[in-house]
Amino acid sequence: MVEIAQTDDGRVDLADLESKLGDHVAAIMVTNPNTCGLFERDIVEIARLTHAAGAYFYCDGANFNAIVGRVRPGDLGVDAMHINLHKTFSTPHGGGGPGAGPVVLSEALAPFAPTPWVVHHAHGYELVEHATGPAGQAFGRMNAFHGQMGMFTRAYAYMLSHGADGLRQVAEDAVLNANYIKARLSDLMTPAFPDGPCMHEALFDDSWLEGTGVTTLDFAKAMIDEGFHPMTMYFPLVVHGAMLIEPTETESKQELDRFIIALRALAVAAKAGDVERFKGAPYHAPLRRLDETLAARKPRLRWKPVAIAPLAAE
Ligand SMILES: *Cc1c(COP(=O)(O)O)cnc(C)c1O
Repeated sequence: MVEIAQTDDGRVDLADLESKLGDHVAAIMVTNPNTCGLFERDIVEIARLTHAAGAYFYCDGANFNAIVGRVRPGDLGVDAMHINLHKTFSTPHGGGGPGAGPVVLSEALAPFAPTPWVVHHAHGYELVEHATGPAGQAFGRMNAFHGQMGMFTRAYAYMLSHGADGLRQVAEDAVLNANYIKARLSDLMTPAFPDGPCMHEALFDDSWLEGTGVTTLDFAKAMIDEGFHPMTMYFPLVVHGAMLIEPTETESKQELDRFIIALRALAVAAKAGDVERFKGAPYHAPLRRLDETLAARKPRLRWKPVAIAPLAAE
């Protein structure tokens, strides 16, 4: 596996990609919109170069909710993409399951999909179970092919309840909300990629905290005291002290404003040198700073009832 360099504006470096493509390359993997919250402007050219080298294009569909209803991955030249139902179609996030989702394939790869297939004809649906006939090139049969049926039912119900226009609106609102946050915080905090709009995530680095004694972690913990779930921290790794804010389409303007006002107040406090407010945060949560290393190394997997003092009446 070989990494492709990124440009200063957070996209795939096309020249670097081109120099690394060749007969020995089977496939490339690109996340689009990418992990910096940006649309890969050269995506069609990336696909063209890849196919010209005889390779296939896998797309990580993790950020599909920024483009759902607006862009067909096939039109971008994608050969295979997984769709994270828990990110785009409202199914629960599972800690190691019950995540499940489809992998969609281009015409070039579809003949190799494992059976069973459901084929849609003019007269209805057909279940193709064996790797013969039209499925002669299938690379095998999956035994447990049902996946997490409840996930699919829920995702499907979500799609139907929105409709095509509603799903398009999801993408548009998610992107608009992120850009609103980016625009309203960029005078106090430093956006990692200031030029141009973002997709559904507003990404800041920590250069605006330089010299304050406050870190990204401190800032995130102080958000808990303000009643907000902290943003994603220190990810993506390519951005120093990253703060990745993904409001989604579901927050109202009023709620976004409440969030922005709280963050602005915190940012001003950090710059004014109110380090105490941050270093000890969260002050108002039932649990304060957790030893996350210890929790990871020695997880306590069994809950033991806490002895409760008898009530006066007892
Ligand atoms: C969330 C995410 C993943 C992981 O997907 P899961 O299905 O949640 O495990 C992979 N890549 C990117 C860019 C993501 O944002």
